[in-house]
Amino acid sequence: MRILKGVLVQKYGGSSLSDAENIKNAATRIGKTFDDGYRLVVVCSAMGQTTDQLLRLAMSVTPDREPREMDLLLSSGEIISSTLVAMALRAKGYPAISLTGLQAGIRTDGLHGNARIASVDTTRILSEINSGNIAIVAGFQGFTDNFDVTTLGRGGSDTSAVALAGALSAERCEVYTDVDGIFTADPKIVADARKIDEITYEEMLELAAYGVKMHPRSIELGSLYNVPIRISSSFSDQIGTLVHGGIRTMEFGIKVTGVAYDRNVAKITLRRLPDRPGVAALLFERLSAEGISVDTIVQNASLDRYTDISFTVGRDDSDKAMETVRSVAGELDVYDMVADSTLCKISIVGSGMLNAPGYASSMFRALADADINIDMITTSEIRITCIVPELKVEEGVRILHKTFGLGNP
Ligand code: ASP
Ligand code: MG
Repeated sequence: MRILKGVLVQKYGGSSLSDAENIKNAATRIGKTFDDGYRLVVVCSAMGQTTDQLLRLAMSVTPDREPREMDLLLSSGEIISSTLVAMALRAKGYPAISLTGLQAGIRTDGLHGNARIASVDTTRILSEINSGNIAIVAGFQGFTDNFDVTTLGRGGSDTSAVALAGALSAERCEVYTDVDGIFTADPKIVADARKIDEITYEEMLELAAYGVKMHPRSIELGSLYNVPIRISSSFSDQIGTLVHGGIRTMEFGIKVTGVAYDRNVAKITLRRLPDRPGVAALLFERLSAEGISVDTIVQNASLDRYTDISFTVGRDDSDKAMETVRSVAGELDVYDMVADSTLCKISIVGSGMLNAPGYASSMFRALADADINIDMITTSEIRITCIVPELKVEEGVRILHKTFGLGNP
């Protein structure tokens, strides 16, 4: 008799399912976990570069991306991989069944291409896993009230997995990819970047948003539902990085956990705006109505009742943001506006940092000594960010990694 343990969710990324061999490897790992007695839900990304290929295919048919059709097309990538994983498991004698996002009860809003999960109806999944099946769920997708298929945004399978783990009160969500976990910096840039064993959701959220690859919304969900997330490689047996909400013990103290960067930065500056109530409200209301998410915002002290506002958006949103600003230029009374896409973001991340003196100044000093000019600065509880020229970003990351003692001793 199989003694049923708690629920575990495993997510396999595209690189871990890139070909038949890797699919069989994933099935071996899934089988072992099942043998341990877990009730198991597996979430799959599309194989390798499938999503990009589908995007290119659509482009070659027509340049216009009709959102509803695009979503149904893109969702097929995850259906392919999840059915193949189920077949690989069944070939090994395991009882596996594949489910689309719709069959798995993942209901979303109607924002095609970037839909948000509204609710998860776990009835079908629970009946599968409670009757001894391994549920293999196609990630990245859900469905609307009209039963149209939606996708959750690029990289969204992470979010599917953590949402399911939350809804099922899973013990843990394990995310398998082709790297050993989360690093103190991008190993492609910093030779002695080290794997981080444990990290809080907040820190991870900053690192995810700044270049370490996990879908940021998955970390928000993990934090909301308190799901521990273990990120590791499907190509090794290393333990990976555990992301959780645990409070750092005093022994850990305050420290910089990692250095992040993000090239996806465009800065928009509005010059000589009248300094009166309602100007910023109008500007950012319009941007948000267009679905443009704004990151760093800086407003200068007012001079002669005029002020400048700069803000950053993702580079993909730069043109749309400029259009939006132009459409309200009259109402805003703005004198001039410019967009700049030659900048990048560098951040140091660590819990409790902001309340401890010295971190900001050490960061600025290190950048200054390397002759790296800082364009904008923002801080949060656990992060200090500088916007710097893109040409200097790699050097900046290496310098900060060293300055804060993150490399090999
Ligand atoms: N296949 C989708 C993408 O490439 C979703 C995912 O991999 O998480 O973005
Ligand atoms: Mg991913």
